Amino acid sequence: MATTETFRCMMCGHEYQERVERGEDKERSCPKCRSNSIRHLKNAGKK
Ligand SMILES: [Zn+2]
Repeated sequence: MATTETFRCMMCGHEYQERVERGEDKERSCPKCRSNSIRHLKNAGKK
């Protein structure tokens, strides 16, 4: 089961959404600047 979650890049400020499998905790990188300083903001798909 996957949820769509919101992430923000701390380097360039780009916000994006990405599907995340439940229990998954892989390293992420910004699609814009390739930085791996990604902050998890919130779940977009559920309360
Ligand atoms: Zn970035």
